[in-house]
Amino acid sequence: MDTVIVSIDEKNPDEEAIKKAGEIIKAGGLVAFPTETVYGLGGDALNPESSKKIYAAKGRPSDNPLIVHIFRIEDLYAIAEEVSWEAQKLIEAFWPGPLTMIFKKKACVPYETTGGLDTVAVRFPVHPTAMAFIEAAGGFVAAPSANLSGRPSPTLAKYVCEDLDGRVDMIIDGGNIPIGLESTIVDMTGEVPMILRPGFVSFEMLEEVIGKVGLDPTILDANCGERPKAPGMRYRHYAPKADMTIVRGADENVISRINEMAAGKEKCAVICVSEHVSEYPGITVKNVGSRNNSEEIAAGLYRILRECDDEGIETILSESFSENGIGAAIMNRLVKAAGHKILDV
Ligand code: AMP
Ligand code: MG
Repeated sequence: MDTVIVSIDEKNPDEEAIKKAGEIIKAGGLVAFPTETVYGLGGDALNPESSKKIYAAKGRPSDNPLIVHIFRIEDLYAIAEEVSWEAQKLIEAFWPGPLTMIFKKKACVPYETTGGLDTVAVRFPVHPTAMAFIEAAGGFVAAPSANLSGRPSPTLAKYVCEDLDGRVDMIIDGGNIPIGLESTIVDMTGEVPMILRPGFVSFEMLEEVIGKVGLDPTILDANCGERPKAPGMRYRHYAPKADMTIVRGADENVISRINEMAAGKEKCAVICVSEHVSEYPGITVKNVGSRNNSEEIAAGLYRILRECDDEGIETILSESFSENGIGAAIMNRLVKAAGHKILDV
């Protein structure tokens, strides 16, 4: 398949290109597009054949459900049942934005889109190009992240092309992505809303709006004996090609242990905060941003994992970062990228 690549400036959108992208979706095709979290791989959420194509293009297991993206709140009620008062409050507080909520699905949403589940995950993104594209596409776009299954989610169009060129009809290059980590997922179908995947909208932010919020126990402890409620969280994910270890502890201990571990290793990179770049002489250093700026770390993390792949890095040693606010999401993705290899020093 020939993939058309178009650049769209969100401040001055090319309406013809958006219209064309919408027509591709309505005809059952696939379009990768920018959102505020990561690039998405979109298809018509109400067309089972489109969802099947998404799974095939990504190499994604078909029991891993897709998030349905909408461009206005009223459309939620066409696909979801039982929108609780908590959900209403979260909509008021965080939509449009990087929050996905799970509801009971209506019959119009095919099981191909929900991975066979009776629930549907819904998100209303805030990125102007995403909103215009979803509207042009008919209002309901199923979209997982636009990477091959298991690879780090793309935050630049060049990484979408690397993974999906020849597998989708169109890629919309919208430049850099502001947040850089996937949306927070909250299951609204139980008695207490429960976070299934941490993201930019943090536990504290949710709690402030609705009071009680639960956390899927597997987020904190992958070995707690339960299965993650979000099927996608069960798979090895966000993984670079290198063997990766997180070193955790007091600064001096972390710095000296990483230096020891890197000694004599070729093709080794250290992921560290900007305050520590001069602490690793002679080692390839990936500066992920200031320790005081978790947003910067979130925005840079996936790009750095991909850069390590591009440079043929075989060993990644990463510092560990704050778990406050969006830090919980950063550490969740980092630990998964490392296949849960953490060294306490
Ligand atoms: P991605 O689109 O690649 O960010 O992945 C979407 C995530 O949402 C995966 O972890 C899915 O398992 C999760 N998800 C989507 N729909 C549901 C649902 N109905 N119930 C639970 N998790 C879901
Ligand atoms: Mg993904």
